[in-house]
Amino acid sequence: MPSRLNRRQFVRSGAAAAGLGLAARADGAPAILQSRPRPVVIASTNGHTRLHDGNESCVARAFRLMTGGTDVLESLIAGVNIVELDPKDTSVGYGGLPNAEGVVQLDSCCMHGPKKRAGGVAALEGVRTPSKVAYAVLQNTDHHLLVGAGAQKFARQMGFQVEDDLNTDTSRKLWLEWKRRLDPEHFLDPEKRAQASFDAGWSMVRDGLIDRDHFFGTINCDGINAKGEICGVTTTSGLAWKIPGRVGDSPILGAGLYVDGEVGAAGSTGRGEANLYGLCSFLIVEQMRAGRSPKDAGMEALRRVRANTIEKRLLHEGKPKFGLNFYILNKNGEFAGVSMYESSFAVCTENGPETRKTESLIEGKEPNW
Ligand code: ASP
Repeated sequence: MPSRLNRRQFVRSGAAAAGLGLAARADGAPAILQSRPRPVVIASTNGHTRLHDGNESCVARAFRLMTGGTDVLESLIAGVNIVELDPKDTSVGYGGLPNAEGVVQLDSCCMHGPKKRAGGVAALEGVRTPSKVAYAVLQNTDHHLLVGAGAQKFARQMGFQVEDDLNTDTSRKLWLEWKRRLDPEHFLDPEKRAQASFDAGWSMVRDGLIDRDHFFGTINCDGINAKGEICGVTTTSGLAWKIPGRVGDSPILGAGLYVDGEVGAAGSTGRGEANLYGLCSFLIVEQMRAGRSPKDAGMEALRRVRANTIEKRLLHEGKPKFGLNFYILNKNGEFAGVSMYESSFAVCTENGPETRKTESLIEGKEPNW
């Protein structure tokens, strides 16, 4: 795993153009000092911990491509493809944990700041890299979101390989185990059934069968280059064992991702329903537009989510019983990772990729359900 870029790579990558740059003037007048953003790519933690079968993580690849001149969004998508294709990441793409019927349904969206374009897919079956299909929606259609069978048909028409089943042996085995733990009668009243379903899944997390980050889990990745071009992408298999057709926050513009090329970007992982209720990525970008720092804007969104969480089933000792993270950057290249409880995020600058702690609203670890 490349930890640091050496000086030559750094200069070649164009990262040296960050910070204060000299603007050349055609009329020969003295050069004007102008401030340029420092290029940066941020992501959820799996953006640095997942390597698939290579030795480069999502943020490292995205940063390398972006600073080498590749379009920012194309760089970010190439980064998240690593995680989507990794069968060991059971929260994203191929091998993502399936829905209650054992079918893997994937969600993704992307936004291009300079081009002011967006694309997304939801409940897409059979394509390992939904982020690429979301990008195809952005590039080839007048629409922003295609879902279900329509999204799959579009993907096929665009030349994507559509597979019958995106389960791996691991994800299928885990689904069968979840079925076994659920009331075998399967005739609980709907409220109890929803809770039983969640309890069965969470007991698998407690038993160490599923990593907590993969029971929930998603990847969001945002970047800004030295020209100040900002883009973002989010991709997920959604909540494990969800009701078929359930779509969370990830593919919804303003919720799982929001980019305004003139202001900044924000994206999320965690309990999608909590984020959807407040369209928090949009809220965060609007807070930054009003002058707040990435961290303060993110904290405001978390406070809102906390205030909106009043149902007993979602509370533990009066506090939200779930995790929610936001990854945020502004047009100056300042960034933050914020979360409801202690967590981490991935970042890559000219100093190389690393994992950092988020700023959390509530001290301590997320409580067990
Ligand atoms: N936010 C995703 C969803 O609700 C899941 C996650 O990130 O945990 O679908």
